[in-house]
Amino acid sequence: SSSHYLERQKKRESNARSYPRRLPLTLVKSNGVYLQDSENQIFIDGLAAAGTLALGHNHPDITAAITKTLNSGMPLQTLDITTPVKERFIDSLFQLLPSNMSQNARVQFCSPCGADAVEAAIKLAKTVTGRNTILAFSGAYHGMTQGTLAIMGNLGPKSALGTTVPDVQFMPYPYAPRCPYGIGKDGVKASLNQLETMLTDPESGVQKPAAIILEAVQGEAGAIPADNEWLKGLRALTKKHDILLIIDEVQAGMGRTGEIFAFQHANIEPDIIVLSKAIGGGLPMAVIVYQGELDQWQPGAHAGTFRGNQLALASGQVVMRHLLEENLHHHAGKIGARLKAHLQNISSAIVGDVRGRGLMLGVEIVNPLSDKDSLGNHQVDGDQARAIQQEALKRGLILELGGRFGSTVRFLPPLIINEDEIDVIAERFSEAVH
Ligand code: PMP
Repeated sequence: SSSHYLERQKKRESNARSYPRRLPLTLVKSNGVYLQDSENQIFIDGLAAAGTLALGHNHPDITAAITKTLNSGMPLQTLDITTPVKERFIDSLFQLLPSNMSQNARVQFCSPCGADAVEAAIKLAKTVTGRNTILAFSGAYHGMTQGTLAIMGNLGPKSALGTTVPDVQFMPYPYAPRCPYGIGKDGVKASLNQLETMLTDPESGVQKPAAIILEAVQGEAGAIPADNEWLKGLRALTKKHDILLIIDEVQAGMGRTGEIFAFQHANIEPDIIVLSKAIGGGLPMAVIVYQGELDQWQPGAHAGTFRGNQLALASGQVVMRHLLEENLHHHAGKIGARLKAHLQNISSAIVGDVRGRGLMLGVEIVNPLSDKDSLGNHQVDGDQARAIQQEALKRGLILELGGRFGSTVRFLPPLIINEDEIDVIAERFSEAVH
């Protein structure tokens, strides 16, 4: 039975295990947006392996691509030596890129997780600029290696470690409800002014950074979208001061927010794009893509044994094909708007901010009896959010939490989800809230 497996897991796996604590499942089957556990309960998957499964579980096109590659007799593990499968993956990747970058892009294959690709982006930026520091934002999540923990805008996961590596400075990530710079246009302006002062005034005590790194929609921080004007301002400032702009699209990229890359909502292009999760079609894959002029590092500057697994290249290319040929991102935008409207219609005093883009949405849970802060927001309520997550699970809906004290219920379903399934998610969530 499921409890047998869970007992064994508790005894044999690390205390650092994370998801099974709040999603105590033993999974045996999956298809599309559905998961089945060992007790034959069916769940709608509103987590999709943290946004990885753009095409859902066991999509037939992905299964076919993997099977074909597997049966072709080609070597499956080639370090970063090229193959026709890899060639096709790069062709599709470059076709997805925004216009300026696609003319002269370079791709670096990384050890297959988001954190390693972020490490590569930071190393490249330091190499190119000869500078040391990185500027990151409050709430930022970029991975769990020590370098990426250093740029995490959340003390919790790194407080036990003392020092972590890169030199890093932080700024608040402006977002209307909780941005200390204030709400709307004025907040955006104040944030950009503060940044420019930091960069130009010697009395700020701040070193000019090699790069600014951010998520265009913050994921783990609770589906927080950046203001488009702020992104444009950041792009202009980084150009003006010769600082590289790294956008971490590990979670928001590959169509999830309604554009292929989340920074495209603001019509900007970064210097370096970080990609993982969905770009492997459910198999492990991570890359950085950057402008050709930046390709100034030495051979072997970012090596790693498991770069370019052929099955992952084949399955990842299927996701890119669905984006290129079927505009899967448009579907994500449309169906995400439907879900957001449902969530906004839930009338309950504990539902605070409803936010996000496309199929990267969050509902902040608040304590309506708490005092309001200076910006007029009630205190967030992580305990209540956890209770809602458990209620949703009982109703056959898998959701993840994020944000301050885990107070944001997050929605990251597969991008292929249909209207009926979206309506069921909203209905079950609403029941869980009430
Ligand atoms: N960047 C972002 C924006 C992420 O959401 C994540 C994972 N949640 C990472 C980086 C790290 O990816 P990984 O867990 O594959 O190392």
